Amino acid sequence: HRQKEDPYMNVLDEWVTHYRSFTSEGRCASYIPVLEKADPSHLGICIIGPDGTMMKSGNWDVVFTLQSISKVISFIAVCLHHDISYVLDRVDLEPTGDPFNSIVRLEMHKPGKPFNPMINAGAITVSSLLPGVSTKEKLESLCELMEKMVGKRPTFNEEVFQSEWQTAYRNRALAYYLKETGYLEIEVEQALEVYLKQCSLEVNTEDIALIGLILAHDGYHPIRKEQILPKKIARLAKSLMLTCGVYNASGKFAAFIGLPAKSGVSGGIMATVPPRVRMEELPFINGCGIGIYGPAIDEFGTSVAGAMLLKQLANSWDLSIF
Ligand code: GLN
Repeated sequence: HRQKEDPYMNVLDEWVTHYRSFTSEGRCASYIPVLEKADPSHLGICIIGPDGTMMKSGNWDVVFTLQSISKVISFIAVCLHHDISYVLDRVDLEPTGDPFNSIVRLEMHKPGKPFNPMINAGAITVSSLLPGVSTKEKLESLCELMEKMVGKRPTFNEEVFQSEWQTAYRNRALAYYLKETGYLEIEVEQALEVYLKQCSLEVNTEDIALIGLILAHDGYHPIRKEQILPKKIARLAKSLMLTCGVYNASGKFAAFIGLPAKSGVSGGIMATVPPRVRMEELPFINGCGIGIYGPAIDEFGTSVAGAMLLKQLANSWDLSIF
């Protein structure tokens, strides 16, 4: 851990305190009733550099559910198990410019193939492709991959799962539509159970920063010195995060932050900073993973203060991949 007197640590603490005052511009997600119980004033960050250096600030240790950040992990798990072409026959790689739970394009472009694995329609399809037959086995394969990356098994939040399971009207509509068009090869309720359970897996900012770190290095874990994922799959995941990771705000994220990132409605943001030679003066930031938590979200489903904090970092430390 970097120490308090460290200039980078000081500035990080200042930014967290500053942007915490903007949490009031967002609101905790309420369409999943339990998520509204989160403290909207929370804001925390964990940055992990390739040498294992960690910088943590604010409410970095609050446990939250993965929600849509899980879509990156399930996509990776599915690509590890099937041929990539098999996966891409069932879900495309194109951004939509629509909200995460939008249904409109499924019918607009026959035959209803989901546009990408980051929107709910694509993510439900991807979850149905997880290895295993039962919902339990499918979820287990995801947990195993997380354990491989993070070094520990994620815990499961039954209360969040139940809260969403009972109110998942839109996701049910999406899943039934996908079933009708043949994009869901398992039963609707089974696919929904896997998808909503993966959204209810718990992490903190350190866990998602580690995944971001591995992705930054194309699947290589620079601290454990071990190739965890094939380069090709890690790059696919990053390209999806950049083009679709924050849905209909992905263009603005790319333009003004310039980092592959994935947000979730519980307030998490997982970002990855691919190493660049130009950044050698900041060795612990060059090629780092970033995890942010701030449950007050904006209209796009992304942490308001979290996105501001990430933008500040990206601009001050010149992190944009462009
Ligand atoms: N579980 C949430 C849903 O399906 C995830 C959405 C999100 O985080 N954007 O609505």
